[in-house]
Amino acid sequence: MSGVKLTNLRKSYGAVEVIRGVDLDIKPEEFVVFVGPSGCGKSTILRMIAGLEEISGGELTIGGRVMNEVDASKRGIAMVFQSYALYPHMTVEQNMGFALKYAGESRDAIKQQVTDAARILGLEELLDRKPKDLSGGQRQRVAIGRAIVRHPDVFLFDEPLSNLDAELRVQMRIEIARLHKELKTTIIYVTHDQVEAMTLADKIVVLRDGRIEQVGSPLTLYDDPVNQFVAGFIGSPKMNFLPAIVKGDTLVLTELGGQTVPVPPLNNTLQEGEKVTLGIRPEHFRAEGPASLELAVEIVENLGGENYAYASHGTSDVLTVNTGGARDLAPGSALTARFDPASALVFAEDGMRLR
Ligand code: ADP
Ligand code: MG
Repeated sequence: MSGVKLTNLRKSYGAVEVIRGVDLDIKPEEFVVFVGPSGCGKSTILRMIAGLEEISGGELTIGGRVMNEVDASKRGIAMVFQSYALYPHMTVEQNMGFALKYAGESRDAIKQQVTDAARILGLEELLDRKPKDLSGGQRQRVAIGRAIVRHPDVFLFDEPLSNLDAELRVQMRIEIARLHKELKTTIIYVTHDQVEAMTLADKIVVLRDGRIEQVGSPLTLYDDPVNQFVAGFIGSPKMNFLPAIVKGDTLVLTELGGQTVPVPPLNNTLQEGEKVTLGIRPEHFRAEGPASLELAVEIVENLGGENYAYASHGTSDVLTVNTGGARDLAPGSALTARFDPASALVFAEDGMRLR
């Protein structure tokens, strides 16, 4: 299996630079997930790796070989897209074998590869069907099968599950994890689904405006984000951000009517009067804790296991509070949201994390 290395990778369309110097080292067999807001360049990077998009600057190596100018068909890569156009007039078997037939492989070899892929994907019973007689999940499996038969060194997935309903997504997510264990292929996977990113990735790459913000294991990004952007992007529901001003060893929360909480333990020394942002994850609110916020409940969402209150103070932005087992909060009621300052993060005015 091959690793993939991007060195100062760049892409411009005319005068507009959309990929602005990306450095990334993907190890063989690693499962890497790209996340980031729409338009940040995820698909463009994938397409450059695949050879579907010319590289404007920097270097791409796959398995240690420079690939910038190598034809897409010779890069050892297969790509699965969100829209997985299958040939409607062909059976599952013909759809899966098409690329091999096109490449001039023998009938027996094609049969063998398609049978193997069908077994891995649980499609054995469906080989004679046409796409119109398949469910959405089965069609997506055929699209993945079409890629597997080519025995790629590197699999690229661009939001492959976005068109599926919630239940199927969960099922396919587990299948993709299983597939990775079985094939041990290097995988680069784009998604905007938090759970897919957190559960599938060995390593998540957070992108913004054509640049990498942070690379790390899912829990590293969750526990130890380098800046407010990553902190806000990883985690669902999202981290709460509270503007604050430093006063002695307290933070005055300017949008919560001047309520104060202790400054979290930091190595950085904060300046008197400094403007910072306090970050608290919804699940870090507890029944007990040395710091507390006085809030009013606006909306309650009791999901059973996880229960959330959306609460505010006066005209402040709404905070999300995971209320743990408490399901008895009513809209309009008062809520004292407690937390341990040690679990809160502090960001400087420019968004960088203060540690
Ligand atoms: P993502 O997949 O992260 O949503 P894309 O990689 O599709 O983002 O796009 C990154 C940026 O490049 C966007 O601003 C998009 O408008 C721009 N872009 C993509 N393809 C082209 C193109 N063919 N011509 C001009 N701009 C493009
Ligand atoms: Mg995209």
